[in-house]
Amino acid sequence: MTKFFEPPISDSAIQFWDSTRERRLVLPWCAACEHPFWYPREVCPRCLGGPVEWREASGSGEVHAVSVQHRPGPMRDPAAGPYAVALVDLAEGVRIMTNIVGCEPDAATVGMAVRVTWEPLADGRHLAQFEPA
Ligand SMILES: [Zn+2]
Repeated sequence: MTKFFEPPISDSAIQFWDSTRERRLVLPWCAACEHPFWYPREVCPRCLGGPVEWREASGSGEVHAVSVQHRPGPMRDPAAGPYAVALVDLAEGVRIMTNIVGCEPDAATVGMAVRVTWEPLADGRHLAQFEPA
């Protein structure tokens, strides 16, 4: 297991993180305008309404942009080597920042189809990452 910085849990992301304990990717949806959004917030950034509902995501997406990081990130083991940081467009229409794993970092390319995979964190949550589909 790679050691990762453990993200803090904001009030508006409690359900997201609870779902990761079961390796389920969920997204906040606005019940008023019927659109998903990312990142989790208390109100919809599109219509400033709500309520916010949590819906299961397909876990499929496409790489929008990718960069290979050669310096270790916070709490990353320098021996783990370079890693790919990417913006992934999920099938539901939201864009999330993540890592591409399951291939060499420089093999991750814009337009590549990816699917979610999970990296365990020490507290039982999981970090959503993406691998080639
Ligand atoms: Zn809305």
